[in-house]
Amino acid sequence: MLAALENDQFEVFYQPQISAHTMELSGVEALVRWHHPTRGQLTPGHFIGTAETTGSIARIDALVLQKASKQFKTWAQNGVSIPHLSVNISAQRLIDAALLDDISESQLEPGQLCIELLESISFDERDTSLETAVRAIKTLGVDVEIDDFGTGYASILSLLALSPKRLKIDRQLVFPITTGQRQRRLVASIVEIGKALGIEVIAEGVETADHVRILRDLGVNAFQGYFFAPPLSAAALADFAQEKAGFRKYREARQHSSLLGVLSGTRPFKNSVSR
Ligand code: C2E
Ligand code: MG
Ligand code: MG
Repeated sequence: MLAALENDQFEVFYQPQISAHTMELSGVEALVRWHHPTRGQLTPGHFIGTAETTGSIARIDALVLQKASKQFKTWAQNGVSIPHLSVNISAQRLIDAALLDDISESQLEPGQLCIELLESISFDERDTSLETAVRAIKTLGVDVEIDDFGTGYASILSLLALSPKRLKIDRQLVFPITTGQRQRRLVASIVEIGKALGIEVIAEGVETADHVRILRDLGVNAFQGYFFAPPLSAAALADFAQEKAGFRKYREARQHSSLLGVLSGTRPFKNSVSR
């Protein structure tokens, strides 16, 4: 793994997040991939555990932040507008002395960068070091998301103390909502917790049109999952964003021309609002 860091074998992929309100791109999550010399492309499940026990995870997280923030600025320079970038941060990285400097060096605007913390990171009330670290990160204008919500042990009190921007409902809770009322009510109650605390809720593992419909009815703010796109290379993500933006421009142009038609009397108003 150290050789992989030296030899630049880690690449960052990006998975789109879609606003439930507008169905447009609301952000991307950076997800690391390892181009292993003999085993091919590896997903984090194959190496994150070892990276944690050998202490290399903080270096991988640092590299992902550096590469992803550089990519984010390149997209912007090329006219590809992405509202925000989320990166996953391990507990080891959260208390890494270099984290705050690295965030400052990423030179992203306030609100553009978001860090995802696993719910399973213990936000124990007696151990306030993680909470102090989160507070310091937030003063730099970085948002915090709680990842895999529903699988860890975050208490309501720790949620209030951390006041994250978003909760990401774990895909194990999202997947079964098409099969039963109880599963839907569970997700609905997480949405309610979010509303009560002023925290947005994003659903992970959105795989079907039924998921989208039900989650939207339940009041989820955003979606992430294979239904929209898997994690994509930087170039493929740019294509995805351009396609979405192109579709929006086409739709706006259609609305505009329909409206002109109404104003000039060539088109009845009831046909002028296209979706
Ligand atoms: P995560 O942060 O919860 O990321 C979402 C994972 O779900 C990704 O797996 C993604 O490919 C997968 N996924 C997305 N949509 C769907 C779907 O519709 N269905 C299903 N079944 N899966 C979906 P991936 O890329 O293998 O990453 C696994 C985990 O590894 C991540 O879970 C995250 O906890 C961790 N990870 C990834 N990159 C980094 C990193 O740079 N640093 C750290 N510390 N952890 C990372
Ligand atoms: Mg994540
Ligand atoms: Mg997750």
